[in-house]
Amino acid sequence: MKPHIGVLALQGGVAEHMDMLDTVGCTTVGVRCPSDLRGIKGLVMPGGESTALIKLLIRWDLVSPIRELAGAGIPIWGTCAGSVLLSSEISEKSHRINQPSLELAPVRAERNSFGRQAASFQEDIIISGLDKPFPGVFIRAPLLFPLSDSAEVICSVSEGAVFVRCGNIWLCSFHPELTDDTRVHRMFIEEAVIGS
Ligand code: GLN
Repeated sequence: MKPHIGVLALQGGVAEHMDMLDTVGCTTVGVRCPSDLRGIKGLVMPGGESTALIKLLIRWDLVSPIRELAGAGIPIWGTCAGSVLLSSEISEKSHRINQPSLELAPVRAERNSFGRQAASFQEDIIISGLDKPFPGVFIRAPLLFPLSDSAEVICSVSEGAVFVRCGNIWLCSFHPELTDDTRVHRMFIEEAVIGS
């Protein structure tokens, strides 16, 4: 049976993740309300604007159900703004900001760490578990600062960590869904299948 994966569909890069999950053999559901979470084996939280996304998560009563899913061991993967939403602390260039989050990973996300939209870039990155470099697409990406040993850095660039795993919670500050490379999506699906 194909793994059934939810993609948070409130704002941001939803279609690209759904297309890639479809390519790697999943069925998908766009998550807009708690009932959409029923039966999913993994949840992807796409990039977009984390300030808008957290407001929408609160408005659509998704905060507690997503926390419950995480507590039940379902893999949850946030990309870029999605990783900001999963972090326990959010900052911008060294000062803490008062932005609520799901607080599911002991990580401080420093928003917009690489500068403005015009400073977006692509570079080959080394991800542990993958044998060849991966094309990392960074768009107003955060840097991720682990706050506990349970947060395992699996990819860094010269500025700092950009992919962190905390058990079933995955945070990456780049955009695999904007490339032709399906390897990170495949890794996530393997995790979802093993956990089910
Ligand atoms: N800078 C955005 C934020 O912090 C994230 C940008 C993105 O997801 N590409 O919300």
